Amino acid sequence: VTIIGIGLIGGSLALDLRQAGLAERVVGVSRSAENRRLATERGLTTETTNDLAAALRAADLAVLAVPVTAIVGLLPQVAQHAPDGCLVTDVGSVKGPILAAGDAAFPDGRFVAGHPIAGSEHSGPAAARTGLFVQHTWIATPSARTSVDAEERITALWRAVGATTLRMSAAWHDDVFATVSHLPHLVAYALMDAVMTLEQGGERVKFSAGGLRDFTRIAGSDPVMWRDIFLMNRAPLLQAVEAYRAALDRLEAAIRAGDGEALSRVFAQARLARKELGHRS
Ligand code: NAP
Repeated sequence: VTIIGIGLIGGSLALDLRQAGLAERVVGVSRSAENRRLATERGLTTETTNDLAAALRAADLAVLAVPVTAIVGLLPQVAQHAPDGCLVTDVGSVKGPILAAGDAAFPDGRFVAGHPIAGSEHSGPAAARTGLFVQHTWIATPSARTSVDAEERITALWRAVGATTLRMSAAWHDDVFATVSHLPHLVAYALMDAVMTLEQGGERVKFSAGGLRDFTRIAGSDPVMWRDIFLMNRAPLLQAVEAYRAALDRLEAAIRAGDGEALSRVFAQARLARKELGHRS
C-alpha cells in the first residue's frame, strides 16, 4: 500500500494497516525529510520516500492523503505511475472536484473517492495514531464510472480499520459538509480574526475563559488544508455563509431593538438543537 501524505490521516491509516497485518509493505510518500524521519521513527510505515514513481511501482493500492488541491494535482501523476490493477482512493474533505479528476485519470473506474469522518485540529506524522477511525464513518462518493468491485474492496479496507461505511453522492456530500464542518471552521477563523482586531495591545485576551478557547479549538487546524477546502467547496460554502450572515443579522437587529423576546426565542431553539445534535449525529 502506498500512502501519499503521511500526516494525521495518512499516517493513522498506515499505522492501522500495519498493526492489523493488512499490508506487507506500507510505503509513505512525503516531500519532507523531517516527516519521513518521523514516520520511520514512529513506525507508521515500512518505508518512506519522496519519489512518487518509485513508491507506486509495486503498489496494489494507492491512498492520496494530502490537501484537497494537491489530491487533484497528483491524480494524473498517480495514473501515470501506478501499475495496472492498482486501486486508488483518497481521503479528501471535498468530493465533487476530486471525483471528477479521479474519473478522468482512471477511466476504468478503479478510483474510489472517499472521506473518513475522523480527525482533529492536529496535523503531521506526529499526530498520527492507531484507532482513529474506530466507530467513525467513512463515506464513499462513487460515480457511475466507479467500479463496483473497487468500491467493495476499499469499503472492506475501511471496515477492517474499524469504520462504519456509507455512500452518498459527491454533490450531497459537499453540501452536507459545507454546513456541518466547513462553516464551523470558517466561523472559528473569523471569530479569532475579530478578537485579534478588538484585542488592541494585549488588554483583552488575557481575560478569556473556556468559552473562547472551546469555541475556537478548530481554528488551530492546518491553514493550508482549510484554505484548500474553502476554495474547492466554494459554492456550497458561500451558501452556508449567507445563512450564517442572515442569522447574525437577526441577532444584531434584536440586540439593537432591545428585543429580548426575539433573543430568547433564538437561544431556546439553538439550545434544543444543540441537545439534539448529541443524539442524532
Ligand atoms: P496533514 O496532517 O497536514 O498531512 C497532510 C500531508 O500532506 C502533509 O504532512 C504534507 O506532507 C503533505 N502535503 C501538504 N501539501 C502538499 C502538497 N501541496 N503536495 C504534496 N503533499 C503535500 O493533513 P491531514 O489532516 O492528514 O489531511 C489530509 C487529507 O485528509 C486532506 O485532504 C483533508 O481534507 C483530509 N481529511 C482531514 C481530516 C482532519 O480532521 N484533519 C479529516 C478527514 C479528512 P509533506 O510535507 O511531508 O510532504
